[in-house]
Amino acid sequence: MELLKHKIMQEGIVLDGGVLKVDTFLNHQVDAELMLAIGKAFAELFRESGVTKIMTIESSGIAPAVLTALQLGVPMVFGRKRKSLTLRDDLYTEKVYSFTKQEESEVTISRKFLAPKDRVLIIDDFLAHGEAALGMARIVRQAGAEVAGIGIVIEKSFQTGRGKLLEQGFRVESLARIASLEGGKVEFV
Ligand code: 5GP
Repeated sequence: MELLKHKIMQEGIVLDGGVLKVDTFLNHQVDAELMLAIGKAFAELFRESGVTKIMTIESSGIAPAVLTALQLGVPMVFGRKRKSLTLRDDLYTEKVYSFTKQEESEVTISRKFLAPKDRVLIIDDFLAHGEAALGMARIVRQAGAEVAGIGIVIEKSFQTGRGKLLEQGFRVESLARIASLEGGKVEFV
């Protein structure tokens, strides 16, 4: 997606450890027009996939996920992250490890928002090592529902996530694929 790539080149800041900061339009301040374009792009890619629900994890997945939901005319639900949780039987729960934050969180979704008939499109802001997307996919499976696909705004293709998701047979569509952040420079695939 050219508009997104342009924005990354103009405003992205490369941090140590292969992390890209895009807090001017995605991770803190949000560019609503760009999110609308992102929602349209995902809707175009997954329109024939029989999607009944969009799922993401708070907080940075919410903006692209909600605009995709709007374009596809389906509800969006986001997983809540909590440090620790006393087990509750009305929740689906999965542990997700973040390499970026070097911490594990528990992601929960209320059972009432996922049903076995659902075909779920998973949306996230970044794909790095695939832990967040795989955690969401496990929740979808817990509900007896199906993953219709995985839509990623920015994929860091030099990390392991894409490979892990493809290995499990998921369709992965990323709007920008970064080949390298070496030397503080963004290079696309
Ligand atoms: P994964 O679970 O694929 O390893 O990492 C995905 C999650 O980590 C995303 O939801 C995102 O919040 C965060 N993340 C991973 N890499 C980056 C990055 O380079 N920049 C930002 N802003 N977030 C990242």
